[in-house]
Amino acid sequence: MLSQAGPFPASGAADPFKVVLINPYELGRQPFALAEPAALLKREGFAVACLDLSLQKLDPEILEDAGLVALYVGMHTATRIAVQALPRIKQLAAAAHLCVYGLYAPMNEALLRGLGVGTVLGGELEPALVSLCRRLRANGTAMTLNEPVIHLGKVPFVMPDRSVLPKLPRYAHLVLPDGSTRVTGFAEGSRGCKHLCRHCPVVPVYQGKFRIVPANVVAEDIRQQVSEGATHISFGDPDFFNGPTHGLRLARDLHAAFPHVTFDATIKIQHLIDHAELLPELRQNGCVFITSAVEAVDDHILRRLDKNHTSRDFDRAVALTREAGIALAPTFVSFTPWTTLEGYIALLERLVVLQLVESVPPVQLTIRLLVPEGSYLLRQPGFRQMLQAFDPALLGYPWRHPDPRVDYLQRDLQARVARCEDEGLARREVFAAIWRMAHEALECPVPELAEHLGSPIPRLSEPWYCCAEPTEEQLQSF
Ligand code: SF4
Repeated sequence: MLSQAGPFPASGAADPFKVVLINPYELGRQPFALAEPAALLKREGFAVACLDLSLQKLDPEILEDAGLVALYVGMHTATRIAVQALPRIKQLAAAAHLCVYGLYAPMNEALLRGLGVGTVLGGELEPALVSLCRRLRANGTAMTLNEPVIHLGKVPFVMPDRSVLPKLPRYAHLVLPDGSTRVTGFAEGSRGCKHLCRHCPVVPVYQGKFRIVPANVVAEDIRQQVSEGATHISFGDPDFFNGPTHGLRLARDLHAAFPHVTFDATIKIQHLIDHAELLPELRQNGCVFITSAVEAVDDHILRRLDKNHTSRDFDRAVALTREAGIALAPTFVSFTPWTTLEGYIALLERLVVLQLVESVPPVQLTIRLLVPEGSYLLRQPGFRQMLQAFDPALLGYPWRHPDPRVDYLQRDLQARVARCEDEGLARREVFAAIWRMAHEALECPVPELAEHLGSPIPRLSEPWYCCAEPTEEQLQSF
């Protein structure tokens, strides 16, 4: 078992052992999960290079003398890109030990090991990553000691080194309703989550626990990103109110240091209601929108997912955030094995009634439940029987809906929304197409849409969703 406590002493000495950290994709964010380990490893005297495949290509010169190549997989799409990139990385860094780390690494451990990955790490993994590098430097081998794949001990966080990554303005930015944009920094105030939503990829790794990044580290990280031009900060915490006191402190610190900088965060419906009294202060401190994983408006499905909120709680959260002057950007798992055509139309109707059509990226209305290895859904009696065999290409268990019309609709909507986005159609126009297709699938008249469907809200230029197919462009980076 590796030591997981205490800061690492800086060695100071130059060391030729080279570590290459690779980010396949992280929603257009400049990844904390590369910048922070890079800083720790540099303090240990390692030579560290980073490659962000969302903006850079695999560079043979950077990889050829690497002793360790570590790929960060914080999301499903990133894992699929990593799996496809691994054979090329093995060619280019033939002598390197391979490591894959991040939320999606432990659940795909068997597959990754089959692809030649020597070390798989998840959770609060920085101490294990440093220890791995030390062993490789000292012995030329990782000497695996039956160490755990998932680590939840304390990390001695240091200020991330963002100089190793492409410049901030190249990443996703905030788009305001008037079309103007803001350079956006990405900060993490916590990792993991204290909740156990059954479909959530955080749960199999963190198992109901969360860990905070110290406020001074977050503040310094924000400071360096503001000095690089950021005027908006997107907090990547799975839930900003897992520790509401910590979240509020981060917001206050940000506003006190940079009153002109706005921010967004992700907060679950239950927390928006339980901590409603904090919302006005979030707004005063610069919060312009909150992403919330609503997932469904059907209480039966919400119970299946163990979301701990009801359909009516969603309405309440919309009202509370509106009262506080903060836009709400709900996200959905629009297609599940329990979704009916009528239920899908009910979701669209609710968005119309709540005037949220402009607040939901159309892709959210095509998302199909993903069941990765380790999902808590697999623990539900009878659920496995609804699934097909694990598909290594999908990195999940495919499922078919008992009503084939639901699957056809999901497939057609996915293709249609992709086309609409290529054509640059506005959200309300895409929604009108979705509305029509859903009613046609049910073979019922298509009601006319209301005049007012809501107003555009601030948003990030890359919409939040974790399970997209890797694009051709992404696959061409190696
Ligand atoms: S869906 Fe959100 S609240 Fe639920 S476990 Fe995941 S991160 Fe936590």
